[in-house]
Amino acid sequence: MTELVGKHVVVSGGGSGVGAEIARQFASAGAKVTIVGRRESPLAGIAGQTGALPLMCDVTDRASVDKALLKAREINGPVAVCVANAGAAASKPFKRMTADDLAAMMAVNVTGVFNLWQASLHDMSENNWGRMLAIASTAGLKGYEYVSGYCAAKHAVIGLTRSLSLELAKTGITVNSICPGFIETPMLQLSIENIVGETGMSREQAANALKAGNPMKRFIQVDEVAAAALWLAGEQTASITGQALSISGGEV
Ligand code: NAP
Repeated sequence: MTELVGKHVVVSGGGSGVGAEIARQFASAGAKVTIVGRRESPLAGIAGQTGALPLMCDVTDRASVDKALLKAREINGPVAVCVANAGAAASKPFKRMTADDLAAMMAVNVTGVFNLWQASLHDMSENNWGRMLAIASTAGLKGYEYVSGYCAAKHAVIGLTRSLSLELAKTGITVNSICPGFIETPMLQLSIENIVGETGMSREQAANALKAGNPMKRFIQVDEVAAAALWLAGEQTASITGQALSISGGEV
């Protein structure tokens, strides 16, 4: 994909799981990649593998995002593609959830996307070109039990995507969300451990219970999600905006 050569791509949560694979694929396509996250060591590991610029940043804190992007711009130039991938999924029955639990889900999954996208907008507007992407979830398109805060937050990301795409429709900047089903990453391992702890199921039974929702009866792989991000960042998808692309084996 030669059109990505030299373009500055920022990926939040680029130290692990989906974000790490997105960083790998963009770097392989010749992009200048910046990865941001809170923990130094995973970021350094992926930076070592890909040549990406690792920067510490908490996406829930706008000042932290602005500081990271200032440094990123100094080294990699104006942001052309912004992949708001950082997220977290806490699981609890609704009756035990607190307002703080809900606020924590909204902070990382919604405010985190808002902060990164808004901080990237100026560069994209100046260039009359840009790609805003969020890694949302099938939880943005349907409900799942025991993760109502996460589902509410991911539904909000889809709303943000649809509205912002209309505001930016005449600017050369597209805005899209990618909605994977359960993906084999550290986050999924936490979900499996949670089910094991709450139900007494074995790890295999818990994994099978999650796979059962996917008509293909398997987990989504990180390279499948990253390939969609690369495609949506390309030139040929200039007319695709405001979409929530399901990567879920037909689950939704
Ligand atoms: P993961 O490996 O746990 O990755 C989450 C990443 O987000 C980590 O690198 C983490 O890094 C970063 N992060 C979390 N809070 C942050 C914060 N406040 N500021 C900056 N970075 C933060 O899980 P993953 O599965 O790859 O998740 C990536 C995205 O895919 C998430 O948005 C998730 O909701 C979505 N998704 C996952 C699944 C799944 O089944 N795994 C399914 C659908 C959608 P630090 O901890 O170092 O900050």
